[in-house]
Amino acid sequence: MKAAVVTGRRQFEIRDIPIPSVAPGTLLLKVKRCAICGTDLEYVDSTRWEGSDEDGLPFQTQEAILGHEWVGEVVEIGDGVKGWKVGDRCVEARTSCGACYWCARSMPHLCLGGPTRIERTAGSGWANMFGAMTEYVLRPARGKIKVPESVTNEEAALTEPLNVGLAPVYESAIKAADSVAVIGAGHIGQLTMLAAKAAGAAPVIITDRIQSRLDKALELGADYALNVDEGNVYEQILEITGAGADGVFVCVREADVLYQSTLAARREGTVAIVGFPKPAAIDPIYWLVKHLRIIGCDPSLRYNWEAMRLMQYKQVDCQQLVSTTMPLTDVSKAFDSLYSGENLLVMLDPSK
Ligand SMILES: [Zn+2]
Ligand SMILES: [Zn+2]
Repeated sequence: MKAAVVTGRRQFEIRDIPIPSVAPGTLLLKVKRCAICGTDLEYVDSTRWEGSDEDGLPFQTQEAILGHEWVGEVVEIGDGVKGWKVGDRCVEARTSCGACYWCARSMPHLCLGGPTRIERTAGSGWANMFGAMTEYVLRPARGKIKVPESVTNEEAALTEPLNVGLAPVYESAIKAADSVAVIGAGHIGQLTMLAAKAAGAAPVIITDRIQSRLDKALELGADYALNVDEGNVYEQILEITGAGADGVFVCVREADVLYQSTLAARREGTVAIVGFPKPAAIDPIYWLVKHLRIIGCDPSLRYNWEAMRLMQYKQVDCQQLVSTTMPLTDVSKAFDSLYSGENLLVMLDPSK
């Protein structure tokens, strides 16, 4: 089968690798679509920030098959697996190991251990070596969500990034008529904006410096799309909302916007960090005097189920976010079109 292997900085090779053989408890899945995430772009460009994950592994470009925003179709079912038939489509869900500290404390949503951890590093996580930019993947049958018929392959492949966008909405308890400002209109920012709209937030404001992204956000339903190069968007957020936004959701890497974000939040509002921030020196004065809640949102698939329901019942339309779908063999072209800003979101189709 074909696989897009990262071989160096901005370099791919389409390699022929063996189709994995189905094992007890697993599903062999044909990848229908795989989206390219901002973290994939950084990985391939060797610009992932200096630092390390909890395993102490440095983030740098090494040979890998990327792809964690994907949907697969069941082609073979391992012994002992129940509830699945050939032709069903599925996406990942969060699983817990049942054996670690967090599971014992009835906090399975914080579990990072056991099978979950292994599963994450084996493909569903974002530092993976066996991702879905390939024709087939083998995955544990445990912790999968069935894709309803009304959800397209493109939408289903966006379940994971929509779960990222839902995290700040749920975790800051945004409700109808609360105001939300989304900082950054990349694909996570756009999905966060859609998640806030689905919760009934009003107004929903989004900011960026790339005008085409802002235009897209308006087309998708943002109430205001503010260009950071055309005035002080944080003051504009204060003006539009009256006293600052109930939720300010930071969907960019640049952590220095955190200070302005605390300025743009209302008293007792929430600033949620959604995008993985680079280190920055921050003046915390507004956290103190405005009694803000600063929360970190790294949901790791926690809201995939909710994301799927919202797409099934047409509360969120992710389809319009997809700029184009390209064959897997055009992976280099696809990445280049994202680096250049020509496209906002590209899907890969490994069957081509
Ligand atoms: Zn992603
Ligand atoms: Zn656990």
